[in-house]
Amino acid sequence: MSKTYKICLLPGDGIGPEVIAESVKVLDAIAEKSTFNLEYTTANAGGAAIDAHNDPMPQSTIDACKASNAVLLGAVGGPKWDELTGAMRPESGLLKIRKELDAFANLRPVAVPLSLAESSPLRQSAVVGVDLLTVRELTGGIYFGQPVGNDGNEAFNTMRYSVDEIERVARVAFEWARKRRNKVMSVDKANVLEVSRLWRDTVKTLHEAEYSDVELDHMYIDNATMQMVINPRQFDVILTGNIFGDILSDTSATLGGSLGLLPSASIGSGIGLFEPVHGSAPDIAGQGKANPIAMILSCAMMLDDFDEPAAATAIRKGLEAALEQPLRTADLCNEDYTLATTSEMGDLIRDEIVKQL
Ligand code: NAD
Repeated sequence: MSKTYKICLLPGDGIGPEVIAESVKVLDAIAEKSTFNLEYTTANAGGAAIDAHNDPMPQSTIDACKASNAVLLGAVGGPKWDELTGAMRPESGLLKIRKELDAFANLRPVAVPLSLAESSPLRQSAVVGVDLLTVRELTGGIYFGQPVGNDGNEAFNTMRYSVDEIERVARVAFEWARKRRNKVMSVDKANVLEVSRLWRDTVKTLHEAEYSDVELDHMYIDNATMQMVINPRQFDVILTGNIFGDILSDTSATLGGSLGLLPSASIGSGIGLFEPVHGSAPDIAGQGKANPIAMILSCAMMLDDFDEPAAATAIRKGLEAALEQPLRTADLCNEDYTLATTSEMGDLIRDEIVKQL
């Protein structure tokens, strides 16, 4: 009997529903030519959930996510909900679901094929062929460490990591390196921070014990940020903590030229959350201008997570083939290309993906 994967769709707000629709179009076409089935449930998240349930991440949505094999999220937030504060903000719904799913590792791949290198703000020669993956620790470090305080005169946060927290995210990085070019660059600030010294020692010990076949190097965050701009091609897998990963992965996000190209996966307990890096883009919502590529690449990451490599590869290869065509959404369009709507781009990508299967 063929396998069935249950996917919980959280379209969210702004362009979220538009890019989710293109993903479902692509996934349905893939399932039709594959040995597995896909079943969807749709639930509210973010602003849409505030409107429907007065809660950006209601228990019914959490239950629907936990009853699935994976969650596909569009994006949340927008001006309509900007006045809300604290736990009522659409974005806090996102933090809640990551925590509920114990999604402790955030994966952000960036690949720049020749067809996209001209859109990069960096020199084409520096970015063509970039293919890197940042593995960022997502549920610890300075964003969560206690104590936290602010008495109006003095304020502080605490950066903490335990060996267990470092090991589990380092394992994710080493495992991914084995599936890629077998290199891990661990990024820290071990010349200054005690917590980074523990990070480095733990990564080294794990490497010696279990992953000595993987090439491991270490770099300070300040240098890594510079290297990301000067010579990003040197990186394969980057392993780093929460705050350094936040900064470094956003720096890497500039390499390809549009936020609409970047997928992500947050994994941990078994149910992964797959979402584009971009937000709800209220400035272009409802106008057919959203680039669906980031969301579709997030589906490829989901299929990797399901261990369906043929389907995941078909997405990546199909996308490359689609980008050889002179069609682009508004974010990447210039006089050399014909302007495509979100749905026209989705059709082209789907057709090229199906040819790969
Ligand atoms: P944004 O990512 O939504 O948009 C930034 C710029 O990139 C805009 O000009 C937008 O038009 C463009 N853009 C983004 N995605 C695009 C796509 N797929 N195709 C073409 N162009 C695209 O960031 P923002 O404007 O700072 O935030 C808007 C809202 O989204 C805010 O409410 C913010 O809190 C929220 N947000 C949500 C998430 C998330 O859901 N994961 C992430 C970031 C921001």
